Amino acid sequence: MPRMLIHACCAHCLGKTLTGLAAEAESWEPVVFWGNPNIHPLLEWRRRLKAVKMLIERAGLELVADETYGLVEFCRAVHGHEAVPERCARCYALRLGRAARVAREQGCAAFTSTLVTSRHQDHVLIRQAGDAAAEEEGIPFLYRDWREAEAPAHLVKMLYHQQYCGCVFSEYDRYKNTTTHLWPRPQE
Ligand code: SF4
Repeated sequence: MPRMLIHACCAHCLGKTLTGLAAEAESWEPVVFWGNPNIHPLLEWRRRLKAVKMLIERAGLELVADETYGLVEFCRAVHGHEAVPERCARCYALRLGRAARVAREQGCAAFTSTLVTSRHQDHVLIRQAGDAAAEEEGIPFLYRDWREAEAPAHLVKMLYHQQYCGCVFSEYDRYKNTTTHLWPRPQE
């Protein structure tokens, strides 16, 4: 059976991707790759990696993990391009470029990403970055719109579910309008 490298950013999106992949006409052996220098801060990065590892254990899958916390690498990649969509285009290119390289090294026939399961991501830019990485490494990128896929409940039950995309910019966008963490509580 040909091997499909799945770049994974979190457990829940990985579950959705496994559902999508299982419904493909062709059968694939999944190999999961963790490589996300865009996730900050450190404890958030650890929470997401831990959840991915727990899913991997439950599903009995193979994991290739780059456990380098890549804050500096990410900052260098987006420096001067902090606005959306340029920042996200560079972020996708960083992660999918590495995924394509690892897929080739691991003897996979193609690669894909959990990013394609998200309603919050830019699918046009993901596809462009995936196709560019595919051309660079000579290995096909499988793009599918798996936004409607459901993660198997037994694989993701009780696993950490993040509240923002990953980088500190997205964390700011997520929480900038909330007063939940402020004190004193604003008057009603
Ligand atoms: S918002 Fe998400 S996709 Fe965009 S740069 Fe930040 S982590 Fe990457």
